[in-house]
Amino acid sequence: MDFALSKEQLIIQNIAKEFAEKQLEPIVDQIELENAIPESVLKAMSELDFFALPYEEKYGGAGAGYDGYVLVVEQIAKVSRAVTAVISAHTLGLGAITKFGTEEQLKKYLGPCCKGEWIASFAFTEPSTGSDPKQITTTAVKDGDYFVINGTKRFISNAVYDGPMVTFAKDVISGKPTAFIIDKFTPGYSISEPWHKMGTRGQKLVDVYFKDLRIPAANLLGELGQGYPILRYGISFGKIGISANGLGSIASSLEQSVKYAKEKVHRDGVIAKFPTIQTKIADLAIMLESARWLTYRLGFLANDIKDQTDFIKNAALTKTFVSEMAVKSARLAIEIHGSYGLMEDYKTARDYRDAIFGPLTEGVSDMQKIIVAGILLKD
Ligand SMILES: Cc1cc2nc3c(=O)[nH]c(=O)nc-3n(C[C@H](O)[C@H](O)[C@H](O)COP(=O)(O)OP(=O)(O)OC[C@H]3O[C@@H](n4cnc5c(N)ncnc54)[C@H](O)[C@@H]3O)c2cc1C
Repeated sequence: MDFALSKEQLIIQNIAKEFAEKQLEPIVDQIELENAIPESVLKAMSELDFFALPYEEKYGGAGAGYDGYVLVVEQIAKVSRAVTAVISAHTLGLGAITKFGTEEQLKKYLGPCCKGEWIASFAFTEPSTGSDPKQITTTAVKDGDYFVINGTKRFISNAVYDGPMVTFAKDVISGKPTAFIIDKFTPGYSISEPWHKMGTRGQKLVDVYFKDLRIPAANLLGELGQGYPILRYGISFGKIGISANGLGSIASSLEQSVKYAKEKVHRDGVIAKFPTIQTKIADLAIMLESARWLTYRLGFLANDIKDQTDFIKNAALTKTFVSEMAVKSARLAIEIHGSYGLMEDYKTARDYRDAIFGPLTEGVSDMQKIIVAGILLKD
C-alpha cells in the first residue's frame, strides 16, 4: 500500500493546477455570465491531453490512467465545474466505448476524441425517466444494414459538440434497451436550446431529438438487448469524474473557508478564534481527506478492473459519498462566511450551486445506494 503520488502523477497534477489557476481562473466569471466555455479553453485542454488521459497510447491516448485523470479533474474542479463537466461526460461516453466497443469502433472514435477534435456524450435520460431503463421509449428499428432511431433524450451533456454519442434505445427485435453509437449532427439529429440551470453554468445541457436517424448496423455497441449491463457498467466511468469534481469542490470550500476565517475580524481578533469556526474547518478537512482517498482509489481501481461488479459498487458508493460531501462542504463554507457567503463576490455561492448537481447526476444518490445494497445483499 503506497499513498504517495508518483513523479509522473505529481507532474500531471501540477500541469492541471497551473492550467486551472492561470488559464481558467481569470475567465471563470465570464464563463458563468455568458454561459459558454470559450473555444480557446477546449483547445488548450486538447493540447494538454486532458481529453485523452486514461486511454491507451496505441489508440491515441495519453496513457495516464484513471488515477491521472482524477488528479486533473480535481485541480480543474477547484476552479470551474463547468469545464470538468465537459471532460467528465466525455470520459463517460468513451468509457462505454472502450469497454464494449469493437476494435473498429475504438480505432474510429478514440483517435479524434483523444485529440479533442470530437467530444463524446452518453445519452440515457429521457423525459419520462433518468433512473429506470425499462421506461425508455426511444426505439431502434433494423432496416437492412442500418438501424433507424427515433426518440428524445433529456439533459444531455456535450450534445452541442461533434463526436460520438453512446445512446440507448429499445430495439424492436429484443424489446430490450440496446446501446448504439451515434455520430452527432448527422441527419436526423437535432438539439433544443440549452436548459437554464442553477449551476455549472457554461456547460450546456440540451435535449436531443432523434428523428429517423439512420446509423450503420456496425454502430451497435455490444449486443442487441445488452443495453442495461452496458449502462450499469459504462456509467461507472462517469462516476469517477463526478467524484473527482466533488473532490475539487470540497477542496475549494476548505480553501475559501480557511482564508476567510483568518481574514474576517471580530472585536480583537479574527473569526478563526471561535471554536465553532474551528470545528467547521476540521469538518471540512475530514470531508476532504476521506473524499480524496476514496476518489483516488476509484481512479486506481478503474485502471485494472478485475471484478466488474465490485467496480460498479465502488463507483456508486464513492460518487454518493463525495458528491454529498461536496454539497455539505459548500454549505459549511457559506456558514463560515455568514451572509457574505451568499454574495457573488465570494466563490462559496457558486461552489454551492455547482455542488448540488453531483448527487443528482449519473444516477441520483438513492439509486446508488440501491445499487450498493443490491450487490452486498445478493445471495
Ligand atoms: C448537469 C446535468 C448533466 C446531465 N447529463 C446527462 C447526460 O449527459 N446523459 C444523461 O443521460 N443524463 C444526464 N443528466 C440527467 C441525470 O442523469 C438524470 O436527471 C438523473 O439520473 C435522474 O433522473 P431523473 O431526473 O429523471 O429522476 P427520476 O428517475 O425521475 O427520479 C426522481 C426521484 O425519484 C426517485 N426514484 C426513482 N426511481 C426510484 C426507485 N426505483 N427507487 C427509489 N427511488 C426512486 C429518485 O431517487 C429521485 O429522487 C444530467 C443532469 C444534469 C442536471
